[in-house]
Amino acid sequence: MGRVFLQRLPAPAPPAPGAAAAASSAASTPEAAAGADALDAPGPGHAGVVFSCVTCGAHLSPRAAVVSKNFHGRTGPAFLLSHAINVAHGAAEQRDLMSGRHVVRDTFCACCCALVGWSYLKTPEGRPELAYKVGTLVLEQARLQRELLPPRAVH
Ligand SMILES: [Zn+2]
Repeated sequence: MGRVFLQRLPAPAPPAPGAAAAASSAASTPEAAAGADALDAPGPGHAGVVFSCVTCGAHLSPRAAVVSKNFHGRTGPAFLLSHAINVAHGAAEQRDLMSGRHVVRDTFCACCCALVGWSYLKTPEGRPELAYKVGTLVLEQARLQRELLPPRAVH
């Protein structure tokens, strides 16, 4: 008999004033809307880099959200990201990953419904070193394209 886990995501960092408008038109879930501020955080003197959906071009995550580049998805290399925008999520399910049994849910582009990766809801019991992954997302690099935002586009 399987256990049912409640979805519990940590609160994201407070959004910068005025930044939420960048993704509000396509955000379909509260979680997606909460990540909208991140497009507004390019490094000084640099244009913002954003990862967008390779299928439809919707912005999915800023480069600054990358936690690790050394993850593997279903199709190959993947990014671990602290947050994303314009994404929708499937149902929570238990999945046996390399580091143990996790509770995850598939993550889709909210604009074209392409499967782009998954997100972590719960990490294995007794593995505190994995707990940082709760609330993060794995997005497949094969599903992403890099897009350079001119400095004027990100105020
Ligand atoms: Zn898409």
